Amino acid sequence: GVDIVLDHVSKRYPGQKTAAVDDVSLTVNAGEIVVFVGPSGCGKTTTMRMINRLIEPTSGSISIGGRDALSIPANELRRSIGYSIQQAGLFPHMTIAQNVALVPGLLKWDKKRVTARTEEMLHLVGLDPAVYLHRFPRQLSGGQQQRVGVARALAADPPVLLMDEPFGAVDPITRASLQDELIRLHAEIGTTIVFVTHDFSEAVKLGDRIAVLGEASSIQQYDTPEAILAN
Ligand code: ADP
Ligand code: ADP
Repeated sequence: GVDIVLDHVSKRYPGQKTAAVDDVSLTVNAGEIVVFVGPSGCGKTTTMRMINRLIEPTSGSISIGGRDALSIPANELRRSIGYSIQQAGLFPHMTIAQNVALVPGLLKWDKKRVTARTEEMLHLVGLDPAVYLHRFPRQLSGGQQQRVGVARALAADPPVLLMDEPFGAVDPITRASLQDELIRLHAEIGTTIVFVTHDFSEAVKLGDRIAVLGEASSIQQYDTPEAILAN
């Protein structure tokens, strides 16, 4: 993994009276899992989207692995940051296999390796490849689509993983096993992970550190789960 540094980052959407994210400075260390918790509308998604440059900060800067995010070409950034979101964001016209194989394909992995990885990732998220590979997203439940989204985000071993309520629609039993898989994978490959959740027990389970965010993502607390629970 690589570190992510936000330096006085603000975002004001056109026409907004107040900033969605106001003057946030925070460092996610290389290989760390940081969990953002905070009320709906406090700017968590906006922050994620600024890190992967789907949107640009109004002011301030973001660096990833010591490089200014703005200087990293968009296509390189897309390949080095896995992004999974609550709505899964699968391409509807593509099969499950094509969705999961997307980034390895862009990276020009050889076909056998892509196929093996696609199957491995579906197993990892608890979907039988024999059943699901050639289905389309609309043929899956919301929770299954989320799992495919997670598989796609992880497929190319990105150094950075941004996960925005990735398990929100997943049933509790599958969710617990996905959390365990994420912890296991993280221990194995040391990806830097920023994870957004509303579920405080999920934050405690996954986070090396938890950032408790208030209005406009102001940082209320940023510490280990143990330290936050002790307060
Ligand atoms: P969270 O992820 O914490 O729920 P968001 O980042 O989605 O928060 O939203 C932060 C604030 O920015 C909210 O007030 C939201 O209404 C506003 N917002 C989000 N996206 C847009 C947009 N594209 N245009 C205008 N305002 C937006
Ligand atoms: P197409 O036939 O248009 O290539 P597929 O859905 O069959 O569409 O395959 C898309 C991609 O998904 C392939 O390039 C491959 O990498 C991956 N894929 C296809 N079939 C399998 C499979 N049986 N196991 C694992 N990955 C597969």
